[in-house]
Amino acid sequence: MNKLIPTMYVKNIENINYNKLRSENIKCLIFDLDNTLASYSDLECPERVISLINNLKKDFNIVIVTNSPKKRTVPYKKALNVEIISFAMKPFVKALKKIKIKYNYQKDEMVIIGDQLMTDILAGKNYGIKTILVDPLAEKDLKITKINRIIENRIINKYQKKGLFERGKYYE
Ligand SMILES: [Mg+2]
Repeated sequence: MNKLIPTMYVKNIENINYNKLRSENIKCLIFDLDNTLASYSDLECPERVISLINNLKKDFNIVIVTNSPKKRTVPYKKALNVEIISFAMKPFVKALKKIKIKYNYQKDEMVIIGDQLMTDILAGKNYGIKTILVDPLAEKDLKITKINRIIENRIINKYQKKGLFERGKYYE
């Protein structure tokens, strides 16, 4: 029942303790795109994301795994020059498996970072890798995400009653 509690929970990608991840021998950062790296309205990759990712490239392999179509990712591919897997169908683990095999990682060398319990965190848990939840960048969500948010809120309310997890109570 506590399946969806993330390994870490921080406000945004800038607040992640990347030094800690490095010291834990994490080699691959798998980022969600929408509402994690940028909001839906950011058709082009924001400057702050370009500089963060370029910095992180020195220490990690960066892969973006998104459920959005390829069209959405084209400007990001151009700006960031990292591997992007689109139509990933998270919470299915296919994309994570593909990354592990391609780079010959151990599962404990990979972490998935995203804003949704029902896709990003569940995919990570299903596959057995570390998970980092961030708050969504914007209120705006796709239709399917709106449904996921309703389920997510129910789960979070349950966790909160048990003292297991609370929105805005960050931890690493
Ligand atoms: Mg997202």
